Amino acid sequence: MSDRIYNFNPGPAALPLPALEKAQKELLNYMGTGMSMMETSHRSKEFDEVLNECKSLLTSLMKIPENYQVLFLQGGASLQFAMIPMNFLEDGKSADYINTGSWSAKAIKEAKLISKVNIAATSENDDFRLIPKQEDIQFDPAACYAHITSNNTIKGTQWPAFPDTGNVPLIVDMSSDILCREVDVKQFGLIYAGAQKNLGGSGVTLVIIRNDLLEKQARELPTMLRYTTYSEKNSLYNTPPSFAIYIVKLCMEWVRDQGGVTAIQKFNEEKGRLLYGMMEKYPEFYRGTVEPGSRSLMNVTMRLPSEDLEKQFISEAKEAGFHGLKGHRSVGGIRVSMYNAISVKAIQDLCGFMETFQKKNS
Ligand SMILES: *Cc1c(COP(=O)(O)O)cnc(C)c1O
Repeated sequence: MSDRIYNFNPGPAALPLPALEKAQKELLNYMGTGMSMMETSHRSKEFDEVLNECKSLLTSLMKIPENYQVLFLQGGASLQFAMIPMNFLEDGKSADYINTGSWSAKAIKEAKLISKVNIAATSENDDFRLIPKQEDIQFDPAACYAHITSNNTIKGTQWPAFPDTGNVPLIVDMSSDILCREVDVKQFGLIYAGAQKNLGGSGVTLVIIRNDLLEKQARELPTMLRYTTYSEKNSLYNTPPSFAIYIVKLCMEWVRDQGGVTAIQKFNEEKGRLLYGMMEKYPEFYRGTVEPGSRSLMNVTMRLPSEDLEKQFISEAKEAGFHGLKGHRSVGGIRVSMYNAISVKAIQDLCGFMETFQKKNS
């Protein structure tokens, strides 16, 4: 597969090659049905098996306890920003939000349309270079829930450990780091993630929700905006994004074949050691933008000595086969998105390129 590039796109992002190859192999004739999974009824035995296998893979990979439901929705993580307060934020009450960057801010904006928001902590004064410490967070014990963004895709920070919210359900946006490391699902009332970074392609959103939250219904809502619609019908109330769910299933098979989340975490730690190590070797040239204790293993952000050098870096990297390294338009600089499907080899090769580039240009 020599025509495949090193794809460091932030999302939609690189997918595991074995998953793509299996999708290709099955594209025209899924399991002898004579049609594609894309053309198969969502009420068919074939799709039912895909859906249930996808759920069961996720359940075993993440060790999801029995009192949680695994749901597949549409509308991206962005619709979750609205559905969460619609379903759980009662009129006159408030929810805690921790602001660690652009995605948190978008979640806060939606919640404010529904009721009150308490900003329990924010790293805005530090230009979002760090994750707040437990002792700096003012949780409200009467909050309907507390919301955090576990990995800040744009700013390059990631919660090293999750905060203790006592009896208040903790809700987490894991769009850009789900399955990157072992996580105790029991810490959360609800986990959500758009699929297009670490789970599969775009078009489907994973929601893992604890049963007691399903019983909390803050208000009357249209059918498609209630979590119970999805939990009661096994995500089949209406036509689900069946092909996107099928791709998630193939990617979860790949995670399993790698040795599960334990093995994936080891690869990710190795990738982080290599890339942050290269930046630490040339700290004046590859200047990390976040505090070392808050560094992300998924999105590594840095600045070079000048914007001209950054442009040159991005274009020479592209010529050398490393794509998608431009920082988000709101922050500039360089961003290396290295989700689960990015191999250790890809980061070794990128580090080789960085070393040469540094020598030539400093
Ligand atoms: C990409 C991203 C989103 C937005 O996801 P959509 O599926 O495009 O709505 C939300 N939160 C985080 C942390 C993200 O990385």
